[in-house]
Amino acid sequence: MNLSSFSLNPNDPADAVLIKATEGKRISPSEALVLYKDADFLKIQMVARFLREKIRPHTEASYTMFRVVNYTNYCNVECNFCSFMDEIGNGKGYVLSKEDILQKMDYAVEEGADQMFLQGGVYPELPFSYYLDVIRTVKAKYPKMHIRAFSPVEVINLETITGKPLREVLQILKEAGLDSVPGAGAEILTERMRQIISPKKASVAEWVRAMETCHEVGLKGSANIVFGSEESEEEVIEHLQVVRDLQDRTGGFLSFIPWTFQPQTKRFKVRPVPTHEYLKVLGICRIFLDNIPHIETSVMVLGKGVGQLALYSGADDISSVVIEENVLRSFGLKTEKEARKFLQEGGFRPVRRDLNYAEVSSPLEVA
Ligand code: SF4
Repeated sequence: MNLSSFSLNPNDPADAVLIKATEGKRISPSEALVLYKDADFLKIQMVARFLREKIRPHTEASYTMFRVVNYTNYCNVECNFCSFMDEIGNGKGYVLSKEDILQKMDYAVEEGADQMFLQGGVYPELPFSYYLDVIRTVKAKYPKMHIRAFSPVEVINLETITGKPLREVLQILKEAGLDSVPGAGAEILTERMRQIISPKKASVAEWVRAMETCHEVGLKGSANIVFGSEESEEEVIEHLQVVRDLQDRTGGFLSFIPWTFQPQTKRFKVRPVPTHEYLKVLGICRIFLDNIPHIETSVMVLGKGVGQLALYSGADDISSVVIEENVLRSFGLKTEKEARKFLQEGGFRPVRRDLNYAEVSSPLEVA
């Protein structure tokens, strides 16, 4: 791709940052802020696309096949944006048995999934043996199933209920069959926003400690940002800085996923994010997070139109086909056939991948 046709002007402060990024140099948080506040959206998109090509040719985009299993909706964290949780003790919530979960995975396997994404509320009454039992049961039936599970706030709960050091808890889970972790529940990693979003959730330092320990014991995964509330542009960049610094230490993030809040409750003010701003932030993620290889877009949350544009704006992956979603309103692709068609219509060769981003063959591939 030739950047010269976009006539970046070295004397323009925002263009100068973009030129620096195309030269493979790391940009600073204050330079990222210049991009957010002042840069031409189309120029960011162009540079982000240029950088994306170093990871995957612009003619290809990847997807994967996992099933989300939300094992319980009982939760004591009470995030202000969340309509999924039920208060512990109200008798209206649920806890899935290992048999329920196996049944869901049987269906997911029939649909072509080879990975399970296990997440739930924070429910201290649920014993540690439950988590181990679920993982072992799924692995016993499907030894090759990749299991990604538990956001930082959930692993911190397991540390509390077992009374064991977090590292030991994670090692036990890993031995039981846990393969990787989502860096979920980050939303915006600044203390001010955590007070607004979820005062009872793990602090920024706790989130980092949990993820760092996961990475140290060999549980790699993803991280995300959810924006479109009362966060400032500075706080978005601060979040990216927290993630980049951690990645410099551990190298444990394989991907990063920016998406936006959906209106779920009256307790939480959601700001509709214009498409160009979402794509701008996504492009900044690609440029700023120079140590994280893959940038995913969430077709499930943002829809197909934005998802397709995102693949031209720095994202190289659309995450998973959505076999089941309970927490968010889903605009997602429901079958592998649909995902492949979506990518082909967008001008990409669909590349099926596993959760470590290795290409795997799809039964739908035409020889
Ligand atoms: S988002 Fe997760 S941690 Fe927060 S209240 Fe909902 S279930 Fe609990």
